[in-house]
Amino acid sequence: MALKTLRPRLQPIKTKAVNDTHQPKSRWGHGRGGRPWRRKRDEIFLRDKYTCQNCGRVGGELELDHIVNVAKGGTEADSNLQTLCKSPCHAEKTHRESQEI
Ligand SMILES: [Zn+2]
Repeated sequence: MALKTLRPRLQPIKTKAVNDTHQPKSRWGHGRGGRPWRRKRDEIFLRDKYTCQNCGRVGGELELDHIVNVAKGGTEADSNLQTLCKSPCHAEKTHRESQEI
């Protein structure tokens, strides 16, 4: 019975998840490791010539970055995606964004 009192506090998170399921088109890119996302990665890496768009390093461990964070309304469009090296550039950007929210 104690769990029942916790439920209202969990509601805001649940509401967001429900909204996501109403927009199947915007969900396809969220499953990392899924085939469409991996294909997208390769496309952007190729476009950016496997070069980190922040520090200019070529090769190494690269990651696909949303220039405008998805949480802030960024899209999956090519124009909002860029290649960043995993560390430090992407790690720092992700950290910075987590501080801003
Ligand atoms: Zn970099």
